[in-house]
Amino acid sequence: MRSRPDASPDFAAARTRMVEDQLMARGIRDPRVLQAFANVPRHRFVEEGLWPKAYGDHALPIGHGQTISQPYMVALMSEALALDGSEKVLEIGTGSGYQAAILAELADRVFTVERMGALATGAKAILDGLGYQNVILRVADGSIGWKEFAPFDRIIVTAGAPDVPRSLLDQLRANGLFVILIGDRSSQRLIRVYREPGGDRVEEICLCAFVPLVGREGWADAERYPGGET
Ligand code: SAH
Repeated sequence: MRSRPDASPDFAAARTRMVEDQLMARGIRDPRVLQAFANVPRHRFVEEGLWPKAYGDHALPIGHGQTISQPYMVALMSEALALDGSEKVLEIGTGSGYQAAILAELADRVFTVERMGALATGAKAILDGLGYQNVILRVADGSIGWKEFAPFDRIIVTAGAPDVPRSLLDQLRANGLFVILIGDRSSQRLIRVYREPGGDRVEEICLCAFVPLVGREGWADAERYPGGET
């Protein structure tokens, strides 16, 4: 059989457009964040039938009732973490693995936890295939964190929680930053917690709608209350 050149599209032009029209136009400024979005092939994190929509201004389904978040939300949360490349980051809610790949570009090491085995398996295959060696993935209830690798410089929860899980707060190091969505099942506030010597300071960033954090320190049951969209 004759060998064929790799015909799979790269979508580099679509990525540039996404960075300019969705991120820069809405005020994302951190050059490292913008570069990460230009680098990571978002289409690889969704099924092939959705590749033409992968760089659109919206969330997309990734199966099992879950979603890969809108690029702007991923950028906003990534920028809020104020990463310089030296950090150890904990992400709860691996999903497709896209946010983990962005974090892998921006931080030193990424520990990511997903409760659904099938999503974790898919995310791991994609991240490995793209050569991200600084992402460590685990299937577990991330609402209680990942104690053996704590403390973390940064923690990001990419699912909506009823409150800030105490266990996660306990795993954030002094002067660390924590980004999470807090609210009810259908809408939440994106907040950033600064761990400062005088106590924790909380800042509200925006309103949004993510799928629920389901677990011991999250919501009790996903089946009865299907999540919103990110
Ligand atoms: N960051 C993902 C999108 C997140 S969707 C991406 O870039 O694609 C939210 C994810 O959180 C879903 O995959 C859901 O299964 C997961 N999740 C919900 N509760 C969880 C918990 N307690 N621990 C770990 N993962 C959880």
